[in-house]
Amino acid sequence: MHPRLHQAQFLIAAGRPDQLPVGGREVAFAGRSNVGKSSAINALLNRNKLARTSNTPGRTQQIIFYALGNADRRLVDLPGYGYAKVPHAVKEQWGRLIETYLLDRKSLVGLVLIMDARRPMQEFDQQMLEWADHFNLPLLVLLTKADKLKANEARRTRDFVKAELASRFPDMRAQLFSATKGAGVAEARDQLVAWLGLEEPAEGEPGTR
Ligand code: GDP
Repeated sequence: MHPRLHQAQFLIAAGRPDQLPVGGREVAFAGRSNVGKSSAINALLNRNKLARTSNTPGRTQQIIFYALGNADRRLVDLPGYGYAKVPHAVKEQWGRLIETYLLDRKSLVGLVLIMDARRPMQEFDQQMLEWADHFNLPLLVLLTKADKLKANEARRTRDFVKAELASRFPDMRAQLFSATKGAGVAEARDQLVAWLGLEEPAEGEPGTR
């Protein structure tokens, strides 16, 4: 595990565009509420409770930033979508916040889209794929809770999602993941390290988008 991933700490919870950190590079995590996004972030960072569940109404309006050792490299926890008790107006606000974020975020070098391996490619997931494609953003799908499927079912799901991506978004990738069993964690970490340029010697360079 790369040392910078070990050094993650809470940076800021931003509710407005003017609160977003400036410069550096970051990878954002998106997913439906309760999909296992917090658990995935915690597993990737080898922490128990750094990322908290998005399953509360207040969390739908904030983008959480974690600094990786230094604030010039960050992971970003986007609010989970689809919390049942959230009123329609808040869902609209969610869309505006995410869209504003994605629209003009030069430091954003990659998006990790968390899908439930038992129910991949839901409407929200499709929307995120379209957005990432539109904004030319590299994207990795983590098919999480893979431990809840039999091995052959998990492989079939992965192949289905890969085939869907290949036909519509050929640059996007997908892999199986389990926060509880650790499956796919090392592979996903490698992608974070590559996107964030953590192996590159120079510091302080601008984002690559
Ligand atoms: P979030 O709302 O997307 O952040 O979801 P959480 O990370 O809070 O996870 C929602 C629920 O799914 C919790 O009860 C987790 O324990 C469970 N969960 C998350 N990831 C996994 C996984 O990989 N395997 C299993 N079996 N359960 C998981």
